[in-house]
Amino acid sequence: MAAAGRLDVDLVVASDRPNVMAGEFPESLLTLPFGDPDAAAREMREYAARRPIDAVVPVDDLTTVAAAAIAGGLGLPANPVPAVSATRNKLSMRERLAAAGVPSPSFTSFAVGEDPRAAARSAGFPCVLKPLVLSASRGVIRADDEAAFVAAFERIRAILAAPDVRELGEGTDRILVEGFVPGVEVALEGLLVDGVLETLALFDKPDPLDGPFFEETIYVTPSRLPGPAQAAVRATTLDAARALGLNDGPVHAELRLGGDAEARDRAWMIEIAARSIGGLCSRTLAFGTGMSLEEIILRHALRLPIASLERDRRAAGVMMIPIPRGGLLEGVEGLDEARAVPLIEDVTIAMHKGQEVVPLPEGSRYLGFIFSRADAPAAAEAALREAHRHLRFIIR
Ligand code: ADP
Repeated sequence: MAAAGRLDVDLVVASDRPNVMAGEFPESLLTLPFGDPDAAAREMREYAARRPIDAVVPVDDLTTVAAAAIAGGLGLPANPVPAVSATRNKLSMRERLAAAGVPSPSFTSFAVGEDPRAAARSAGFPCVLKPLVLSASRGVIRADDEAAFVAAFERIRAILAAPDVRELGEGTDRILVEGFVPGVEVALEGLLVDGVLETLALFDKPDPLDGPFFEETIYVTPSRLPGPAQAAVRATTLDAARALGLNDGPVHAELRLGGDAEARDRAWMIEIAARSIGGLCSRTLAFGTGMSLEEIILRHALRLPIASLERDRRAAGVMMIPIPRGGLLEGVEGLDEARAVPLIEDVTIAMHKGQEVVPLPEGSRYLGFIFSRADAPAAAEAALREAHRHLRFIIR
């Protein structure tokens, strides 16, 4: 909304639950059934007959399919609905990537009701068990042997039985099991323009993500990986986009390098989403003379000129503050000291006092974010760690 304000774009905001102000602004605050993309597209066709719409921009994973259906229904440039749907179902994604020969983990899947002991006997180790339709690493668990497999399977089964998950419907009745891909992980933030991939930023994830749970912590850009490895990341991302049929708008991809001793510079696709980076992480990015990622996405959607896709030269980092343990958040100490650390731009706490904090694999929210900016990536990373050392979370 801030980016739309800067561009002087007239905004219509849709949500799947009525906004409290919807009565006062019926033409700009809409309620749409995101779970039924065809119905949402029909409603928006009727709306657009009265008040034309120039572009449709989804803001998170849950809205990508409905947004593609709405844009397609209005004849606006958009990814095909089946392509976006495949990014929302990890099993469909694996099937399509494998069929196209994109480097990605081996996989198999089981019905949630299946006997985990029998499933474990047919699995190879180490492996990663995960739900098909969740995000933010929720329910993603590594298993190194049959006992760990059975425990992980039962834990994911319980997560899939939670009311907020069951609401998602399709895809909540299976568990995906993938071969564990070792190696360092990176995230690519890109923009597809007529099927061509523009790399907006490549983030290193300097903390090892070896499991059993996969909590995201530090992202630092620009990447310190050598050129050939970066080129491999871009190549696999473009191959994956093409394999799924994505050709328009933002993509956020997670890849691993070094999983293959014979091909050190092979990049393995863990996941690609048809949206921009989540949480508040996009604050790390600035383009040209200070344009935000959201402004680039809006300009692209509206086919407005984009002066530069060149990221601001300085290094930037963000830490998604890890959840030390579960309980009720009673307070946060050390905020002023953390903010005073040199090179730290901001520390924001995303949860309020009294809120329940849930660690992975059941949880899906971050405690908050720390942002840094420096001349070199190593300094941006060190500042994040230093600021984090000052924070104490009182959790009862
Ligand atoms: P989500 O969409 O919930 O983030 P992902 O499938 O992207 O789920 O998995 C979350 C994280 O778990 C990844 O970023 C990666 O670190 C780790 N991970 C997932 N699958 C694998 C795999 N097959 N091999 C190694 N690590 C994996």
